[in-house]
Amino acid sequence: MEKRVYNFSAGPAVLPEEVLKEAQENFYSYPGVGISVMEMSHRSKAYDNIITAAENDFRQLLDIGDDYHVLFLQGGATLQFSMVPLNIMGPNYKADYIVSGSWAKKAVKEAKRVGQVNIAATTESDNFTHLPKQEDLKLDPQASYVHYTSNNTIFGTQYITEPEVGEVPLVCDASSDILHKKIDVKKYGLIYAGAQKNMGPAGCTIVIVRKDLLERAPDDLHTYMNFNTHAGKASMYNTPPTFTIYIMGLVFKWLKNMGGLDAMYKLNKEKAGLLYDYIDNSGGYYKGTVTEKSDRSLMNVTFRMPTEELEKKFIAESTEKGFSGLKGHRSVGGLRASIYNAFPKKGVEDLVEFMKEFKNNN
Ligand SMILES: *Cc1c(COP(=O)(O)O)cnc(C)c1O
Repeated sequence: MEKRVYNFSAGPAVLPEEVLKEAQENFYSYPGVGISVMEMSHRSKAYDNIITAAENDFRQLLDIGDDYHVLFLQGGATLQFSMVPLNIMGPNYKADYIVSGSWAKKAVKEAKRVGQVNIAATTESDNFTHLPKQEDLKLDPQASYVHYTSNNTIFGTQYITEPEVGEVPLVCDASSDILHKKIDVKKYGLIYAGAQKNMGPAGCTIVIVRKDLLERAPDDLHTYMNFNTHAGKASMYNTPPTFTIYIMGLVFKWLKNMGGLDAMYKLNKEKAGLLYDYIDNSGGYYKGTVTEKSDRSLMNVTFRMPTEELEKKFIAESTEKGFSGLKGHRSVGGLRASIYNAFPKKGVEDLVEFMKEFKNNN
């Protein structure tokens, strides 16, 4: 088999090697069934075991109580930009949005089609190089919910603790940092996250939603768009992304074997720490793009170099040496190392070595 390289892609992103190997072993014929998971009816007993185990393990990892639904949906986090306001912006159709990056802006665009959006704070005038501060939030106590993005995949910022919003339900787009640590789900009304960054392959979006919020959905909402449809059918109203959910289930088992989310958080801090420490001690050759150190992401480490020519050269040479996907998002340029849960610590150590070598030679 062809050798694997280090995958720093922002998403779809690296998966645990153990998961890939287990899936490969059972790819052709799933044990006890004799067909592949892709060929199974989603209504079969075998598949029911797969999706039930995935949901149970996910609930266990985040300690999610019975007062929340866990839904496996499609359409990406992008569809949730619409589904969330369509379902829970009522009855007064006012919501607060904290705008800390391009994904939040896209969420605002769709919410505005449903009701009145109050921008509680935005750091756009600083090119999203830091997060809005708690004291700068202009929150409306009448809002139906407050929406924020826990990790800004493109700009490399991340909240350490969630914004304080009082009694108003907190809604979070956690697409690029879900499961990177334990969070207190009880603080949230709704959390959504696409699978392809920190949970599995593309094709599935998890929605964790407090059950009482589902009563807000208007009766004339299209069937598929209504959370109640999916909650009432255990995510089986129509054919779910069966293979993606299977792989997600393997990732959840892997996380449990790794010691759960506290162990994962410790590892994530070590990995990001290695990279940020070197960047900060490179004499200004490499520069972190985030202006507040406390806002730096553990998942997406964004940095720049003295010139764009050097950045181009760095990307070309690093790719050649087996470091894939270090180019920053096209909208901001520079470099970005996405080091999600499944990214190995050894890969970060090797990247730091490469960065030192490159600096010496250039
Ligand atoms: C990737 C990403 C999205 C978009 O996800 P899709 O699954 O492509 O719709 C939304 N929000 C955040 C924070 C992301 O990182």
